[in-house]
Amino acid sequence: ATPTALLVGTGRGAQLGILIKGPEVLENTRKADTILLDKTGTVTTGRMTLLKVHTTGSTDETEVLRLAGALEHSSEHPIARAVAEGAAARVGTLPVPEDFANVPGLGVQGVVDGRAVLVGREKLLGERAVELPEGLRSAREEAEREGRTAITVAWDGEARAVLEVADAVKDTSAEAVRRLRSLGLTPVLLTGDNKAVAESVAAQVGIDEVVAEVMPQDKADVVRRLQAEGRSVAMVGDGVNDAAALAQADLGLAMGTGTDAAIEAGDLTLVRGDLRVAADAIRLSRRTLGTIR
Ligand code: ADP
Ligand code: MG
Repeated sequence: ATPTALLVGTGRGAQLGILIKGPEVLENTRKADTILLDKTGTVTTGRMTLLKVHTTGSTDETEVLRLAGALEHSSEHPIARAVAEGAAARVGTLPVPEDFANVPGLGVQGVVDGRAVLVGREKLLGERAVELPEGLRSAREEAEREGRTAITVAWDGEARAVLEVADAVKDTSAEAVRRLRSLGLTPVLLTGDNKAVAESVAAQVGIDEVVAEVMPQDKADVVRRLQAEGRSVAMVGDGVNDAAALAQADLGLAMGTGTDAAIEAGDLTLVRGDLRVAADAIRLSRRTLGTIR
């Protein structure tokens, strides 16, 4: 490969809004046959809103919003932002937690107004032996069938509410998936979110293969598994939880609108966070290499 031709390729990349770490990256864009797409923030906008609150009979909705909102206010997760903003809009000023911890891939826990509060997936509650009563479980299932993310709220060892949050698919995602397919890549949706939500999003953008309920530390294993099948794997992600998978992938593409951790781990950055540019990047590098062969 002549370095000059490669550098011309990377210069054209910059014009398209693609930052390439080094010319050697181009070779891997040529080989990729599978592209893993993170859901939240990559295929969807990542800007979630709080839509609904379901409570158990004896629970006060304002209390749910105060406690859950207070905890989520300390987290940077897109779901957390939706809950904190939605809660503040409905109940006003939120208390400051006495204690707070992120539980990656599951939710948050802490102490608010002297109460031990959990907000997150049902699994987070399950790990602490808190069961979801039937009424809340059916609210969760119904929300997930509709493609929304259901978050459970518990305090003092009892599940009290299910919150529905939703995130819109970016209007460029379906087009991006079509372009990636036309380049011969198989798209796979990868997410820590629930299977029903993942399948709903996948159907909206034209993806057939879904790997859901993947813990942040296991995303890189999904990449390894596909590589072990002999596939050459590209991965597009935006979150801290995508960094290891981006590094493991044969080609890591980071959304420029995402976290620094993802951008550092990627080989290539899509500056404007437009997934269609992932297809441009792959086409560009194939063409660049084509001209120098
Ligand atoms: P993704 O892979 O789609 O970016 P994450 O791995 O960050 O998702 O999170 C997986 C799931 O864990 C979320 O869909 C949500 O159910 C739960 N979760 C994570 N963080 C939080 C939080 N701060 N509050 C509530 N739920 C959370
Ligand atoms: Mg994400």
